[in-house]
Formats: sequence, C-alpha cells, structure tokens
Amino acid sequence: MRLPLSTPTPTRESQIDVKPFTVNLHFHTDLDFFLGSIGRPGHIERRLTEKTSIKDIIESCGVPHPEVDIIRVTGQIVGFDHTLEEDANIEVFPVGNRETIPTEKRLQTSQVMAFVADGHLGKLTRSLRLLGLDVAYEQKANDRQLLDVMTSENRALLTRDRRLLMHSIVQHGYCPRSQKPDEQTIEVVRRFDLSDLIAPFTRCLRCNTPLEEAAKAEIIDKLESLTKIYYDQFRRCPGCKQIYWSGSHFSKLQKRIEEIRSWARGKA
Ligand SMILES: [Zn+2]
Repeated sequence: MRLPLSTPTPTRESQIDVKPFTVNLHFHTDLDFFLGSIGRPGHIERRLTEKTSIKDIIESCGVPHPEVDIIRVTGQIVGFDHTLEEDANIEVFPVGNRETIPTEKRLQTSQVMAFVADGHLGKLTRSLRLLGLDVAYEQKANDRQLLDVMTSENRALLTRDRRLLMHSIVQHGYCPRSQKPDEQTIEVVRRFDLSDLIAPFTRCLRCNTPLEEAAKAEIIDKLESLTKIYYDQFRRCPGCKQIYWSGSHFSKLQKRIEEIRSWARGKA
C-alpha cells in the first residue's frame, strides 16, 4: 500500500526567507520498511525552500516519529524540535540499532509495559496476553478511543496504521512489520525488551485481566465431565469468569512460547 506523503508543516519562523537547500536523509536498518521504493534503499533527498522541523521532514518520508530513536544531523545528535535551514546530511536510526550512543540522547524508551492494540491486531493481542503481557484491545475501537486509552492508561500504541502512529500525541508506539501474528509477537517483545516480563498463562486471553488460582471445588459445577476427571489445577478470570486449565493444547502452546522467547532473546 502506498500512502500519500504529507506536506511538511512550515515552522513559525518560515516566513523569513531562506535560500533553497537540500537535505539528504538516510534511514537505517528496518526503517526503510516505511519508505517508497524509489532511489537508493533507505535514502531520500529533499529540496526545501523554508525552515522545516526535522520531525516533519522525517514523517513526510513516511516514517512515524515513535519509530525513531536517534537523529544525527551532519554528525550532531538532535531532538525532534531541531529546525532545518541549510544543506544537511540526516541519519535516522530505529530503536535497537547498534550505535553506541548515550541513552539520554535517545528519543524512545523501551520501558513500556502496557499496550493498546488496534482492531486489526486481535491475533497479536491474544498472543501477547498468552505470554502474560498487558494489552488493551477493543475490536471496534475507533482512532479517538485508541488514543484516549493510550493516553489515560499510559500505554504504547500498537498499530499498522502509520498515519495513526504519526499523531502528535503518540509518545510510544510500534508498527509491526510482519503480517504474521507470531512474528509480530517477537517484534513487540524485542522492541520493548519484554523478555523478562513473560509470564505465560497468567492473563485472561479474552479480557486482559490477570488470572487467579481457583480451587477445583469452587468451580466444579462449571466443568465438563471429562475435565472434572482429568484436571486438578485451574485458574479463573475475576473479570469475565472464564476458567482456564492446562488442557490438551497446553504442551503445544508451551512449545510456541519457548520458541517466541528464544527468538526474542537470541536476536536482541
Ligand atoms: Zn477475562
């Protein structure tokens, strides 16, 4: 899908004439996922006729600001508020790059432990909840509702809608590159450094509430007859009352979780 590129918004000082100038942008590692396929991979050249904020020029290339961790303008590390007014070479790095740059100069943090996923990421949501991770999800939520939950509950936004990720109130967010839920799960665990938080089977897959241990005697009248016979350990969701036990699918799930874990760790 080709997205229309936005026009950089002139900064307040843009009325003052500047000589036309050229900026060369180099987007490192997987940030070229967001670029069109014209020219050299990862490179974009722009001719500008007025002062322009670096955040606007980066987003006009299709790269949402929550994906940008480090910006270097002709060797100097800058923030999103930097204004361009003369020829420059701009390097843009995603989170998880191998550059040795002090953490205080980075624009993103990996210290986010709660998420809100958009309506198209139901399978990713389920997969993250299976790992015990906190993901708010409402299939029919509109953009405004997603942004409200993100802000009021201090969650990072997970969406493949890069326009939404570019919204100025989004502080933390991520656009899964893959369309496959298992690969998306690994991407999110790596991006936010979540390996140590993984606690499988501790969260309700349906409503995100942390599960509680449930004594068999308390729930026995809700179980099917074979489950009553074969299983003794149960967990219950205090939110939606769903009951969980390690059924026949359990070992398959556990194997998948181990795979996700080792991938996320191995590539970190
Ligand atoms: Zn529940």
